[in-house]
Amino acid sequence: VPRETLVRTCCDAVNRGVALYGDKLFVAALDGRLIALDQMTGKVIWSKVTVPNQTDYTITGAPRIVKGRVLIGAAGSEYKARGYLAAYDPETGKEVWRFNTVPGNPAKGFGVEGVNKAAHEAAAKTWGNKWWTLGGGGTVWDSITYDPETNLVLFGTGNAEPWNPAANGREGDSLYTSSIVAVNADTGQYAWHFQETPEDRWDFDSDQQITIADVMIGGEKRHVAMHAPKNGHVYVLDVKTGKFLSATPWVPVNWATKIDPETGRPTINPDAQYEKTGKPFVSLPGAVGAHSWQPQSYSPKTGYLYIPTNLAAFPYMAAAGWKPTDIGFQTGLDGYAVAMPADAKVQAGAKAATTGQLVAWDVANRKPAWKVDLKGPSNGGVLSTAGNLVFQGTASGEFVAYTANRGERLWSFPAQTGIIAAPMTYAIDGEQYVAIMVGWGGVWDIATGVLADKAGTTRNISRLLVFKLGAKGQLPEAPPMNQMVLDPPPFTGTTAQATKGGQLYGRYCSVCHGDAAVSGGLNPDLRHSAIINSADALKAVVIGGQLHELGMVSFKSALKPADAEAIRMYLIKRANEDKALASR
Ligand code: CA
Repeated sequence: VPRETLVRTCCDAVNRGVALYGDKLFVAALDGRLIALDQMTGKVIWSKVTVPNQTDYTITGAPRIVKGRVLIGAAGSEYKARGYLAAYDPETGKEVWRFNTVPGNPAKGFGVEGVNKAAHEAAAKTWGNKWWTLGGGGTVWDSITYDPETNLVLFGTGNAEPWNPAANGREGDSLYTSSIVAVNADTGQYAWHFQETPEDRWDFDSDQQITIADVMIGGEKRHVAMHAPKNGHVYVLDVKTGKFLSATPWVPVNWATKIDPETGRPTINPDAQYEKTGKPFVSLPGAVGAHSWQPQSYSPKTGYLYIPTNLAAFPYMAAAGWKPTDIGFQTGLDGYAVAMPADAKVQAGAKAATTGQLVAWDVANRKPAWKVDLKGPSNGGVLSTAGNLVFQGTASGEFVAYTANRGERLWSFPAQTGIIAAPMTYAIDGEQYVAIMVGWGGVWDIATGVLADKAGTTRNISRLLVFKLGAKGQLPEAPPMNQMVLDPPPFTGTTAQATKGGQLYGRYCSVCHGDAAVSGGLNPDLRHSAIINSADALKAVVIGGQLHELGMVSFKSALKPADAEAIRMYLIKRANEDKALASR
């Protein structure tokens, strides 16, 4: 995949897995190709660009096999993407059906939706203005679940786009974003939907895994879908009808004041409507979500849903006079106004409030059975076993086993690197193994600035680790952590220039290089970069695209040379602020 793809990738270069079917292996590449390989040799059998364009869309999810077809969607709801889920013939890659999650241009029949025309007519009433010009979001980047009992495919949809509704005159619920949608597995025809976050303006994707199980609820066995999305509530829905059964907050929530017990519709906190108040709003949960893509696990033995949980707020502020551009995030937010200040007290407070948990959620009784506090957010996915074990890797670099019923810590292994993936288990000749891909990265590392180190071992050593009882293997000694000293040139710009540079940095640069110019450690931290010493060198990269092969493409479609210089002055100012902070 060309590294230039990174500029349309919201949350680091990631991939959530592959699918096996027949003699083939299916993988979706970040640049939008769906690829069929020979399982035994790795030879490419076919490869097809499945995304509508390679400017606004990427693919980060794992394909799923459903009734002899390959299902995959795309990512891009921070850009100008229109979400969809599509099914492909595994022999040829030919598209069999496609469900668009957002209605298209009404003048063009919503995009010629066939069996889903009525569903799109209904959805079109929930938007307002020309939503289709910016795609609308609702991308399907994970969680595709097939239920044989009902022949339905259930999937989660991403945030509405732009995040700030006022940026595109968006008014209404914006269906089918931030929802669970069910379609017929053979035809892709709409069956039902349940919207978890109407009027989404907080990046509350509902793409988290959907777990289907038969659960005793109120003394009755129910065939349900269990979902713990970014918005902080555990939802239980009837699989066949989509009927709402319950929603219960499992973390502190302030964007909604209550959930209607009959309909599941939230009452939105007026303060959370930042585009109306004109003020910043610090939301719990934040954009990273109370739970993101790290897989949850349900144990039918305990009746608990094990949720990798983030406790991490996010500040939202509407950008004034915002207009879409052809490159970078298109969220309509002002990232500069709410960037982390160079203030030791504020930073310490934010760090103290930013943590993670592993939560064992008692589904039938709608309450936590046990919790484990973790050092920071963005910990790994969860595996629960029939032997009463729960495994999880942490961002701070431990791989841990707990008892599934009580959360007692039984065992741990120091992995030398942050862990974000989920473990799996298998047996050979009756001997059980537990395997996990370790390594650090993702959105928490690249975009969260001074909070990124909160998670702990923010160092990437990518390895596959496999464990079994009685094994004696050891890792080689860990390399030392990087220690960089700030040594910036003096600030020579004007305040107005640094402010302008900060606003541009917040819009175009912070998503990869970190909030307030503090990187998480994997992408270059520009406060430390020699490039800030030279106006010409920085222009050659930002405008000239000199480092495009490393993923740093030219931003000349959005930025002028004077803008590049303003960004340089902002970086120098930030570096000097943090140097002073460190010496105090
Ligand atoms: Ca999103």
